[in-house]
Amino acid sequence: MEFEAVIGLEVHAQLLTDTKIFCGCSTKFGNPANTNVCPICLGHPGVLPVLKKKSS
Ligand SMILES: [Zn+2]
Repeated sequence: MEFEAVIGLEVHAQLLTDTKIFCGCSTKFGNPANTNVCPICLGHPGVLPVLKKKSS
């Protein structure tokens, strides 16, 4: 039996922006739980995250 090694990487980074990288949700720390979210950043089925050119 022959095996092929497949390695994936998951990278986490904190950006110094006011909004998230794939949607307009705020990144403000301290807001109540589950308020800075939308279907895009929650990864709901059918959404298509698109990288923003500039984050404000
Ligand atoms: Zn969002």
